[in-house]
Amino acid sequence: STQIQLVRRPSGWPTTDDVRTVTVELPDLEDGQVRVANEFLSVDPYMRGRMNDVKSYTPPYALGETMTGGAVGRVVESRSDDVPVGAVVVHQEGWRDLTQGDAAGFRVVEEIPGVPNSAYLSVLGMTAFTAFVGLKEIAQLTQGDAVFVSGAAGAVGSMVGQIARLTGASRVIGSAGSAEKVALLTEKYGFDAAFNYKDGPVAEQLAEAAPQGIDVYFDNVGGEHLEAALGAFNDGGRGALCGAIADYNSTEKPVGPKNMANIVTRGLTLKGFTVGNYTRHFPDFISQMSTWLQNGDVVFDETVVDGIENTFDAFLQLMQGANTGKMVVRVAAP
Ligand code: NDP
Repeated sequence: STQIQLVRRPSGWPTTDDVRTVTVELPDLEDGQVRVANEFLSVDPYMRGRMNDVKSYTPPYALGETMTGGAVGRVVESRSDDVPVGAVVVHQEGWRDLTQGDAAGFRVVEEIPGVPNSAYLSVLGMTAFTAFVGLKEIAQLTQGDAVFVSGAAGAVGSMVGQIARLTGASRVIGSAGSAEKVALLTEKYGFDAAFNYKDGPVAEQLAEAAPQGIDVYFDNVGGEHLEAALGAFNDGGRGALCGAIADYNSTEKPVGPKNMANIVTRGLTLKGFTVGNYTRHFPDFISQMSTWLQNGDVVFDETVVDGIENTFDAFLQLMQGANTGKMVVRVAAP
């Protein structure tokens, strides 16, 4: 098995010296175990946090050990009646091409004609689920809300915009980091307005895109975006704090946003969340999203990087905004 390990904790932006690629000999399967050839590996922003040695909701990656992360693959050998050879499975043994373990760690999923298995890492997986939970459970989206989402052309953000529209938002506004992404937001994902945050101050661009203010802010970015949202909120506004990618590779401590007083004066509710604490809503999400997908109500993009040897590079590219929709790595067939 080819596996990628963290060997040094990055300070600021990670570099290729922080990881190494190793070949690991896998032992014979024991009773109840399966062996899986991964087809797609997920690279995600939260993995940057796991490269630091700090206590968080997911433990740090251990130095000299293979990293973990979402993946989808096919069972190539099985000693379990529950998970037969040929089954497609979703699991957490990413950052490697071949893996094995107790069948219980591998969730069997259906192959859907016309939908790549990588969808289980994106539109039918963790990132779209994050959008669903954040809007419904955290921001308590209601009919008529004006919704603003940052990181809007990414895996989570592109779903936030579409789910908001499908659940009755009156206006959906997104920000992203390039003209191409901004065009995609309004032309493909159905946003009402969008802007490039690199074109000028976020607060000014947001005020122009949301002249009536916003009721919900889905925060993927933090920093200047959160500050602008705090300024644009209508009374009773609600923020789902999902991530703050603008700070993930910063070596300085982030300064708190201005406009904090509006939390009081406008009666705002800001709530952070990690999707892993809301898995009870997953069945509801899957049934709703499957219907939307089948009816063509939701579209999704994936940026596919080929070759396990490019996994770390794909991760870096993700942090730099090279992706539209979900960033995944396609592993060559064994
Ligand atoms: P994305 O697909 O959105 O990829 C990351 C994107 O972030 C890049 O494409 C880039 O797009 C953007 N970005 C990078 N740096 C900056 C910056 N300085 N300012 C603004 N945008 C930046 O990733 P995900 O959809 O997987 O994740 C989005 C967010 O959601 C992250 O903050 C992540 O940590 C969080 N998350 C939280 C979860 C939870 O449970 N709370 C679960 C899953 C994700 P651009 O070109 O627009 O700059």
